Amino acid sequence: MEVLPCGHAAHAAGTRGCAHLVGERPPDHYGWFSGVGLAYDLLCEGCSKRDDPRSELIVLCVGCAERVDDYSDLLGWVGRPEVRHRDGPSSPGGEWTSVGCAVEPVNARCVAPLPGGWLVLAEDGLVEVDGLVEVGDGTRLVAPVSLPVEPRDHSAEPPRPALHTSSDGRYAAVVTDFGRHGVVVDLVTGTEVMPLDRGDYRYRHTCFPLAFLGSGSAPVVVTATDWNRLDAFSLPSGRLLTDRVTSWSGDGPKPEHYLDYFHGALLGSPSGRWLLDDGWVWSPYGVVVVHDVAAWLGGDVHAVEHGRELAVRDAWTLPIAWLDDRTAVFQPIWKPDRPPVDGVEVHDVVGGRRLTAFAGPVGRMWGHEGLLYVGTASGLEVWDPVEGARTAVVEDFTPTAHNPRTGRFAELADGRLRTWTPPAPPP
Ligand SMILES: [Zn+2]
Ligand SMILES: [Zn+2]
Repeated sequence: MEVLPCGHAAHAAGTRGCAHLVGERPPDHYGWFSGVGLAYDLLCEGCSKRDDPRSELIVLCVGCAERVDDYSDLLGWVGRPEVRHRDGPSSPGGEWTSVGCAVEPVNARCVAPLPGGWLVLAEDGLVEVDGLVEVGDGTRLVAPVSLPVEPRDHSAEPPRPALHTSSDGRYAAVVTDFGRHGVVVDLVTGTEVMPLDRGDYRYRHTCFPLAFLGSGSAPVVVTATDWNRLDAFSLPSGRLLTDRVTSWSGDGPKPEHYLDYFHGALLGSPSGRWLLDDGWVWSPYGVVVVHDVAAWLGGDVHAVEHGRELAVRDAWTLPIAWLDDRTAVFQPIWKPDRPPVDGVEVHDVVGGRRLTAFAGPVGRMWGHEGLLYVGTASGLEVWDPVEGARTAVVEDFTPTAHNPRTGRFAELADGRLRTWTPPAPPP
């Protein structure tokens, strides 16, 4: 067997590193992106500071690469991974609307889709905006909304309102992210049909867990009713659909269905079959979990106590989106014991495995028709998650809401409501 540059007659690992990492106890190291995808070479601290460490790189054997893995921490990155920009020569097309609209959302989480337009939470309350008719004719105050004032705790994110709508447009929920309370409103009658309260234990660390599921005659709202408990309620009655025992006094052995997990933002899959949960566990770590809603509402009452862990990260409340009914994307790219990389991980939610990752996307995300849309300060980026490449940028357009049925995005700012519907994908 050939003797490799590291001095060992062994198989090559497919990894390059500097010679200073060869040894029984290699020092901590840095990753130097090679410029091809997310691949990187390994450098000691000294070499990481050289202008061009290329001449120091040697092929490492399997054993040398394993020792770096086992005994040496990856302290940081040098350079940037490959970010694939394949923007076409022309604008991405699609359909635009633009009308004057004086309604001011309370914040960027306070615009939500309706079948025929948009719902906005403004200072006065909930306002319907159709988006096609000039201001005055195209808006309707649905209901004033008042939520309990949530005091600021300086150790956590400031509490702030957020708005959700059911896909049939019948109901809205106004909740306080990083807060405890919310309310479900019937948009037809303008009445509050259900107060929401997720209990008083450590509610300040996540967005308010809430998602509407189903449509038509049987809409269901899923929300947290305690730090470690989700429940589903039918609307408009507010009847509990998921009666079960989840509490534990702390004495004796832990019950089989006890859940040690703080629920976070909930995100239903396009069909409503699955629910992503952006919660956390001690000490603390963000853990994205997927719940099988069909099993839960079909009689497996403890299904949400046994959700599947998809990703463990050192933070949460980071951008998450569904691409289709079994594929979800998470920012950033994260592996244990190393700094995160700007970009997205693509996960097969049903199979419970990470499919791929690619560098580049940073910002709020929406999936639609197999493409990934990313909101940035300069525009809305369009990414092809199969190629891991950006394919277009809708310049000077910073939407804060998306209608998953029609694909339409909405930007409500500076007295104008602008919407953009992406072109239909090629057949
Ligand atoms: Zn070195
Ligand atoms: Zn070796």
